[in-house]
Amino acid sequence: MGDYELICLDDGSVVEERYTLSCGTPGHSGLLRTRYASKTLDVKPHGGVFKFHDWLPVRSVIPTESAPVAFRSEGLSKELGLRNLTVAFTGYYPERGAKVKSCTFKEMEALPTYARLADCGGGTIVVASAGNTARAFAQIASETGNRCVIVVPRSAEDRISVTEDNGNAKLLAVDGDYFDAIRTADRIVALGGYVSEGGARNVARRDGMGTVMLEGALSMGRVPDRYFQAVGSGTGGISAWEASMRLIGDGRYGDRLPKLHLAQNAPFTPMAKAWNAGRRTISDEDLGDPARDIPQVYADVLTNRKPPYSMAGGVFDAMTACGGSFLEVTNDEARSAEKLWMSIENARPDPAASVALASLMKSVEDGSVSADEHILLNMTGGGLDRAREELSMVTVRPSARISPDIAEDELRGVLDA
Ligand SMILES: *Cc1c(COP(=O)(O)O)cnc(C)c1O
Repeated sequence: MGDYELICLDDGSVVEERYTLSCGTPGHSGLLRTRYASKTLDVKPHGGVFKFHDWLPVRSVIPTESAPVAFRSEGLSKELGLRNLTVAFTGYYPERGAKVKSCTFKEMEALPTYARLADCGGGTIVVASAGNTARAFAQIASETGNRCVIVVPRSAEDRISVTEDNGNAKLLAVDGDYFDAIRTADRIVALGGYVSEGGARNVARRDGMGTVMLEGALSMGRVPDRYFQAVGSGTGGISAWEASMRLIGDGRYGDRLPKLHLAQNAPFTPMAKAWNAGRRTISDEDLGDPARDIPQVYADVLTNRKPPYSMAGGVFDAMTACGGSFLEVTNDEARSAEKLWMSIENARPDPAASVALASLMKSVEDGSVSADEHILLNMTGGGLDRAREELSMVTVRPSARISPDIAEDELRGVLDA
């Protein structure tokens, strides 16, 4: 492949790149990781996130302005009593130079994913979600020649908005719940020509998310002492660890990994519970009662039931390598963090970003962070209300409403229409 290789984290072997999501060796469940030929970070003159082309698993480049920004917020630093706080923001906040139209760091995953897939021969991405992931993949499809199929339950069919609804993102609404949407997405992938985006197993998603750490380190001139992020799958935590290892390998950004401070939104906090109990596997006790607890959390993007926690290279390994803490944040704590942010900055945070800020506030209050430490706060999303208005975003209309039991030839017909 030339510029990078895929390494199996179970045995270190090199795996062939065909948009490969797992090594395929029986008994191996670990993640693959990219090993880049370039050991130093040379920022390229490409637009948006592709300036980090050296450390993205892509050859092609998609024209975009979309990238994380990093800045020092005088107001927030003062309020928290932190002298070296850097905020990374991925969303729509033009005054700070942030022009991510789908308004979350999921767009940093979508862009390299489309490029990687094109490099590997192409295909149409299928996403079963009505949340930030779906919006990111739909937005980039609407801006570029790429295509995707988004499968949602009917109850969520009006949740995907883009700057231009030109048919590149096809929305299928399934009569049923999320489980039916996921099952339908799997059936579409099985038809051939359609590709699952791959979640945490997709190195393009992880290295795309890792650009937040890269941008932060460029801005700070070093790897931070501590990294704060709210997590549902924890993929962003894994990505921050991997990006930090690459930065350390570069030699110009220090030689110590950042402590990871990951946060979940109570009452649904399975990874926080498992980590704090010292468990590599999430137990039933850690999961609690998802049907009862998930509807109660403020930041519903943080409610992943099957996060990549246990496998080689997963969240447990990231936390073990970096150290840090796994906090539980209540809805009230998240809302008061949001209030504080809104009194200082001019882009409403995604609820998940408010959870991250709340976790930093808690860590300052309990003394686990000191005033001089170099801290990177990942505000993973924000500005959606402004983007919808200022960019006149439109809601993607479903191209079909289908039964989860739709026959295969009919399903093909709907997709080809
Ligand atoms: C998905 C998401 C997260 C959580 O990301 P992980 O995959 O758990 O790292 C946090 N914030 C926002 C805005 C998100 O969309």
